[in-house]
Amino acid sequence: MRAHNLALVLQTVANSTNQPSRAAVSAATGLTRATVSALVDDLVSGGLLVEVDPPPRTGAGRPAVGLTLTSTGPAGLGLEINVDYLAACVVDLTGAVRQRFVEHADQRPADPAQALAALGALAARARLAAEADGLIVAGAALAVPGLVAGRGLVRVAPNLGWQDIDAVAELHRVPELADLPVTVDNEANLAALGELRVTGGDPTFLYISGEIGIGAGLVLDGELYRGVRGWSGEIGHVTVYPDGRPCRCGSRGCLEQYAGQEALESGEPLAAAALGIALSAVVNLLDVPVIVLGGAYAPIFERLREGIEAELRQRVLTSGLAPVALRPAALGADAAMRGAADAIIRAVREDPAGWLRRSSQRYV
Ligand SMILES: [Zn+2]
Repeated sequence: MRAHNLALVLQTVANSTNQPSRAAVSAATGLTRATVSALVDDLVSGGLLVEVDPPPRTGAGRPAVGLTLTSTGPAGLGLEINVDYLAACVVDLTGAVRQRFVEHADQRPADPAQALAALGALAARARLAAEADGLIVAGAALAVPGLVAGRGLVRVAPNLGWQDIDAVAELHRVPELADLPVTVDNEANLAALGELRVTGGDPTFLYISGEIGIGAGLVLDGELYRGVRGWSGEIGHVTVYPDGRPCRCGSRGCLEQYAGQEALESGEPLAAAALGIALSAVVNLLDVPVIVLGGAYAPIFERLREGIEAELRQRVLTSGLAPVALRPAALGADAAMRGAADAIIRAVREDPAGWLRRSSQRYV
């Protein structure tokens, strides 16, 4: 009960547009003033909430002290490895980005251990910089362009050439990360969650992540649909031309061969048409009203838009009744690492009792 109420109070403050007083939290939650006060005391002493002075006020009555999320407490470390870059960011409990590092380098020649060691070094820099800034990194989440099984095992990442790589174990070899909880997820899934949570907005949409490979994250009524084994969203290997170019996956005519980042360089109209064909199939099947274009597509969205829309108009049965809305990703190329960092922050916000327990053990 206490754990549930701690989360309720923390979420109430987090979702407030102003800095609510204890009395306002009591009114919003239906908990008694005394209960709220005790819970707030725990959240303040545990470093999750801070009290802020009320604005000076004239007239009678003492203004109440307000509450807000701390910007020096737990933080999430978001990591991304992709074919041509490594990235790390640290996001604090309020959702603000406090550190951001991006390193452009082709990861394909590196073996998985080398690539993860380089990412680990970047992650260690981000963590140390954040901790020098007063934050406590609560955990890390890694976004990878591939299929992930339980416990951080990357089953296959075709464009990196990875198979059955224990990414968590590799990151834990870096001394500065050895004590840090690390999770791993597909980059398009994390980017879709980033779009959903960081920007608010549509509860149902398809997120398309255009990198060297192409991934998708399907969000239905505010929930990510992962598929039975967590392997949904491989839109890059949807066939757009059955007798087309051979693909790294062993098939032919996959979307990725026409609209992946390398194919984009040689022909945007062809890429837009291929995307439109693949997306039409998704919309016909699932009735998704919004498509968000992220990764390398976000900055060139306006150049792709007309070509994609032409295919959707022609191929989607219901396009005359309700056109599909296309928009660029609000977080741009940072969506996956922001979504990763947000997953860590969200876990703390949803279970503050767990965080308080762990952080008290840390200082015993
Ligand atoms: Zn393929």
